[in-house]
Amino acid sequence: MNPKYSFIVPVYNEEKSLPELYRRMQIVMDKLEEPAELILINDGSRDRSLQLLRDFHDKDPRFCYLGLARNFGHQIAVTAGLNFARGECIVILDADLQDPPELIPQMVEKWQQGYQVVYAQRTLRHKERWGKRVTAYVFYRLLNRLADVDIPTDTGDFCLIDRQVVNILNSMPERNRYIRGLRSWVGFRQTSIRFERDPRFAGEVGYTFSKSLALAVNALVSFSKVPLRLSTYVGLFAAAMAILMGLLVLYWRLFLPHSPLTNFTIILVAIFFLGAVQLVSIGILGEYIGRIYEEVKGRPLYTLAEVRGFTCHQSDKF
Ligand code: UDP
Ligand code: MG
Repeated sequence: MNPKYSFIVPVYNEEKSLPELYRRMQIVMDKLEEPAELILINDGSRDRSLQLLRDFHDKDPRFCYLGLARNFGHQIAVTAGLNFARGECIVILDADLQDPPELIPQMVEKWQQGYQVVYAQRTLRHKERWGKRVTAYVFYRLLNRLADVDIPTDTGDFCLIDRQVVNILNSMPERNRYIRGLRSWVGFRQTSIRFERDPRFAGEVGYTFSKSLALAVNALVSFSKVPLRLSTYVGLFAAAMAILMGLLVLYWRLFLPHSPLTNFTIILVAIFFLGAVQLVSIGILGEYIGRIYEEVKGRPLYTLAEVRGFTCHQSDKF
């Protein structure tokens, strides 16, 4: 029989947080009145995380796990979890306990009221580097302005999703998955709960600066065509500048024969400016074309090395 609730937890080098997650999630699951499963996805951890997941499953069969064959990244790990979840009500949360499991009953309550997506919105981030806070603040507001869909600010992947919506997410073939965006894109009845994001329980941040940057670019490119239009705007601006400069040069020639600016400097500046505009535009184009290329290749989103707690095989899933 399928469980009613599925919890999805991506794991990347979390050996220090996992025992505490196990303890706290057991309490939450015991309190629920219906059967639940917890799917841990090992995203190619280099520490003892996978060993711990095996132990959890042996001790409590409600804890199942998927072992990805390498590090595929957080969004893909969550996607794998969504593919395998069997519950009617699915909750995604982080392994480092920054998303407090104790909020789950509150989210479930909203679900029982008929909401199909309940996302958790941060009001405060405890003990996070100021650099991360500032970049996150700017990014969410920029995305909000540029994206075609309304993606709520300051929401992470911590959310509850109904089976109906998970089925739709699973049927979306795209490789560059920004789950927060897709979750907004699908529509349905959505609501939020507010919470203060706890500091990481233990261990290192798996989202390095480059991974965060890649996610941010992905979000913008996947949900907005404004960057493409940007090169047109900058091109128009450059054209206006060129006309202005032409007039300036004419003025100098006619009225100021001893101008300190030589033609050479003007040409140099113009060349650099246009060169920069062109390179940036090509870069933006590249971001979109690179994604088209990845979609066209049509590779599977992830490969699985080990699966415990599921009777079906990966091939049944696709
Ligand atoms: N994570 C993952 N793969 C990665 C990086 C992170 O599965 O390549 C997991 C990590 O174990 C955690 C969650 O994604 O459960 C969020 O990562 P992290 O805490 O490093 O990011 P932050 O909370 O700072 O956004
Ligand atoms: Mg974290």
